This record gives sequence, C-alpha cells and structure tokens, in this order.
Amino acid sequence: MQCGGGRLGPLQARHGSWVIGSCIPALAKGRSPIPSAVARKCRLLSSLSVWGQRFLIHVWPRLSLWSRPEVMARKKLLLIRGLGHSGTTILDLALGSHPSMIGLGEALRILRTPSPGEGHRGPARLRAELRHQRLCTCGRTASSCPVWGPLLEWLPAHDHYPLVEKLQQLLAEVDNHVKQQGDAIEWMVESYQDDMVLPFVDDPALEIRILYLTRDVRSWVHSRSRDGRHKKHWLPALKPLLRWCRVNARQERLLQVSGRPVFRLGYEQLALDPETSLRRLCTWLEIPFDEQMLQPAQHSTSHILAGNRMRFDANRGASIRYDGAWLGHSSSLVQLALLLPWVRQLNQRLVYSKDHLLNHESGSM
Ligand SMILES: [Zn+2]
Repeated sequence: MQCGGGRLGPLQARHGSWVIGSCIPALAKGRSPIPSAVARKCRLLSSLSVWGQRFLIHVWPRLSLWSRPEVMARKKLLLIRGLGHSGTTILDLALGSHPSMIGLGEALRILRTPSPGEGHRGPARLRAELRHQRLCTCGRTASSCPVWGPLLEWLPAHDHYPLVEKLQQLLAEVDNHVKQQGDAIEWMVESYQDDMVLPFVDDPALEIRILYLTRDVRSWVHSRSRDGRHKKHWLPALKPLLRWCRVNARQERLLQVSGRPVFRLGYEQLALDPETSLRRLCTWLEIPFDEQMLQPAQHSTSHILAGNRMRFDANRGASIRYDGAWLGHSSSLVQLALLLPWVRQLNQRLVYSKDHLLNHESGSM
C-alpha cells in the first residue's frame, strides 16, 4: 500500500485488517480512510522517505567523499595556461623535477574525444596503434607507461564520458602509480595550451590553481613568424601579432572572472632568472623550492605524452635558458604595435609585472 508516495511497511502490517475493512466505506462517506494518528505517521514516514532519498542522492556522496583519507588531503591540480610556444613544456618538465610534483603535459588534448575528421591526429591514433610506438617522457612507450598505459586501455570504451570524468580517471591512475612508488606527490601539473576549459570548477575533492605563462610579444611573434619570413610572405609578423593580442587579452579576462588563484609568470622572467621565478612559484604553491627544478631533463619524473618536441631534447632540457633570437631581428611592425598603450600595457602586465597574483582575493600568497 502507498501513502503519500511512501511505503507503509510495518505500519501496514499493524493496521492491515483495519485498512481492508474500513477503507472503502470511509472514502464513500468523504472521510479519510484511516485514523488521523495513522495518517500523521504516514505523512511523517513519507517525508522521511523523500528526505532520505534526497540525502542519499545529494549529500551522502559528498560526505563519503570527504571521509576518504585520500580525499581529505585534497588533490591539487596546477593548470599551466598560455599561448603555445611560450615555454610551457620546459616549465612542465621543471615542475615535474620537484619531488612533490608530477607533470602530465597536455593531458586534456589526449583526453578530449577526437572529432570524426581528426582520425589521423595524435590523440585518435594514441587510442589505437600509436600507443605502442610513441614515447612518454618516463622513457617507456605510451602503452607501457604506468600512468598512460592503463588510461589508454580504458579510454576507447569510455570516450563518451564527460572530459571531467576522464581527467578524474587519469588522476586516479597517477594516484595508483604514486602509491606504488611510495612517493608523496602534492601537485599534478597539466599544460594544455590555448585551452580555457577549467575542469572541476565545483569539485570539493580538488584544488585547482592556474599558472598563466606569457612570452614577450616581440619574442613570441619573432618565433611564430619564422616560416612566413622564410617564404617571403608580406608582413609575416602581422598574423602572429594579432593572435598574441587577441588570445592574451581574452585569456586574461577569463582568468580574472574564473575565481581561481592565478599566478602570472613571464617567460622572460622564468628563462632569464629561473631560480628566483621558481622560488616565488614554490612559495605560492606552498612547497619548498628544490634545486632539481633547475635541471629539468636530469630530474623530471613527468609523464608527458603530448607537448612540444623539445621534451625529448636532453640538451635543451638540461637547464632553463632564454631564447634571445629575436633581439637582433625584432619586427618593426611589433615595435610600432608597442607604441599603442593598450598593447604595451598588456605586454608589461603579463610578462614583467612584479605583482604575480591576478586574483588577489583567491590567491594564498
Ligand atoms: Zn610515462
């Protein structure tokens, strides 16, 4: 018998004979078929049942999540964001050299479901034959990597899952690996460039901070217009210049409203004075500085499967050095652009600012 949407259970057994005998006559006379005391019990049980269901669905998962020891110490995810070719890979490797951090490269690029026209690209092929060939920075092929191997085994059958759940699976694989190694990793680092998706925005089990890396507009445009110069294109610097301005202005706006702690770092600051920059960054991350970070290639324990090819260049990864190729060939178009106050101030703010925190109210430094 149902009463107000809830099952009576023991109450039904206790009053069963009465219900059968007097329910229909009572209804016919326009009265409640059951005594008021029993009706109150019914309503009470019904309410408890509804609230119980709501508790189980909405509250219990969160309480049980917080009660798990591995979650009580929240997972910490550091997202390196910024335009590609701004030093994100060397920074990812440097952070991965710290005993409390592990770098995962452009993990979201791999986890995103490839669209039908992207079957020839790396992420789609890593779900198939490429995982037996492509090397991870740990020295193993993707299929043998203790982090990416199990994940790439799992991924093809779960590609329809939301990106957040796939990232959660990856973080769980990192957890397994770290526990087997007996390490104590505090921060996991992800560095998908140009991607402003900030996963786990409301996940209480995860702390997210963002490191926004920007390269000086003169240096970045020089690097990105190299092909155009060789092919003698008209104004080869124009397109990269517009891209630098548009993407950086948009990302700065988005990060300001993200409500997340954001640390601004200029590639020039990092490459010209790596120790000071990394010490400052470690303070913000609340971990001690470690000298190993200054020799990324020797010490990195990262598992980077997608990212700049320099991740395998032991010579370039031996230390953090500045690429000053632009100094003798600065584009006059960029020099002109820097006369515009808006461009000059954006470059100054993102690359050379001494104030590293973008969202002061949410920063912890
Ligand atoms: Zn690996």
